[in-house]
Amino acid sequence: MSNTHLVAQTLVCVSGALRLRTRIRPVLFCFLALCCFVANAASATKMKLAGYLTARADTNAMMILDDRLELTSASKVVGKDDSGEHPLQLAELAPGMLVEAEGQWLDRHRFFAEKLSVDLRQDDKKIRGTAYLQEEPLDASKIATGDPSELKVDGYWLTLDAATKRAWNVSKASSGLPQKESGANSLAGYHVKYSGAPRKDGRIAAEEVELGPPAPADDYKMPHNLDVVRAKDPLTGIDVLEFRQGKKLDGRMKLLAERTVQEYVAHLGDSLIPEGANGTRRPIEFRFFVVEDPDINAASLPDGTLLINTGLLGATENEAQLAFILSHEMAHVLQVHYRREVEETRGSRVGLTIAGIAASAFIGNAGMFMAEIGIASAVNGHQRELENQADRLALQNVIEHGYDPREASNFSRIIINRYGNRTTSKLWSNHDSSLIRGSFLTIQLMREYPEGHWDVARKNTPAFQTMKEDLGPVKIM
Ligand SMILES: [Zn+2]
Repeated sequence: MSNTHLVAQTLVCVSGALRLRTRIRPVLFCFLALCCFVANAASATKMKLAGYLTARADTNAMMILDDRLELTSASKVVGKDDSGEHPLQLAELAPGMLVEAEGQWLDRHRFFAEKLSVDLRQDDKKIRGTAYLQEEPLDASKIATGDPSELKVDGYWLTLDAATKRAWNVSKASSGLPQKESGANSLAGYHVKYSGAPRKDGRIAAEEVELGPPAPADDYKMPHNLDVVRAKDPLTGIDVLEFRQGKKLDGRMKLLAERTVQEYVAHLGDSLIPEGANGTRRPIEFRFFVVEDPDINAASLPDGTLLINTGLLGATENEAQLAFILSHEMAHVLQVHYRREVEETRGSRVGLTIAGIAASAFIGNAGMFMAEIGIASAVNGHQRELENQADRLALQNVIEHGYDPREASNFSRIIINRYGNRTTSKLWSNHDSSLIRGSFLTIQLMREYPEGHWDVARKNTPAFQTMKEDLGPVKIM
């Protein structure tokens, strides 16, 4: 159930009780009694907290970002893998572990853990994955010839040496693909499967790398053959974004009227487009639209359309944060996460039809509408593994563009502080999800860039400040 629905229901309940108070006292009494019962039951319920351990505070306490996780000798600490639970010592806890704690909040940033489960399947001794190359590999020819070389892939830096098994045959990977007129030798957008072991300096000692072709063109197709087009509302003349299936109008979103804000976001987005966008088998035209929606959220559609909510712009503090968010959404597109999820949840979305809308109605909540048209990730995010991949690639993208990557986890902190602990169900505004990703980003930076010096990196620009002034105060939910 969405938060809006919860709020609406609560309001109904409260006004209902007020009306009843004068006339039907027994009913009101029952209502209150029920409330007390529910409140008591809730306070006895154990709370949960999940995230990546970011530091050890002392012998009995670990940190997840700014939250202090306190344990005692009576706390049960277990490691979980596919074979079940195994007891762990408190001293074995280390930064980087993905944990879930059960217990109680002691205050805003202190959590007492009665039980702590460590996800041992997150094996940090071996890293393996697949990704489409976000940028042109500089050492491509050395990789092919078996020479020592380096490869940036999937947000990691791989180091290849004589021991690395390589299946890196460009003509094989590109066979059957239409010849490109320009940049015929570019591998940006190609697929790489890799495995390796992390080293102390943050690089991955590559065990295997395998080159494959770019994603099929259909992977970037819009669900239900939707078209997203900029238009003007015939009644009011305001700028809108229309979701169409042929002649049928499925929905209409209000675009923010301030042209300078739209232009700023589009310009920033264009400057961050990774090279991989040129290597796709269906041309990707990234488009950036600021839509009027108070949710702190942004979403991407498979074809490269990005929707950035006014609520999100209002919540960001600097350009580095916004650059990270745009890079994250672009990574979802270029890594074809939408298709991957449809594949993995095949069946559940078959036969989905979109209800038409009254011609004059506007979509109030972009995320809910996207969920209706089958892009559930707009509300709940993608699976964690895909979110992590988008975060890794976005970190690398902002670093390459000279931005301070620490602002990525600082944006998670804004959300956590704004909403307090354990609140809503939305992607960017979910405390748990913000804590998991904020701590993931922190760990990722620590591991991958142990020597990173970011104090001279760009955090803010006059253009961002001007945009904030032009945006003015916006509603944020
Ligand atoms: Zn995401």
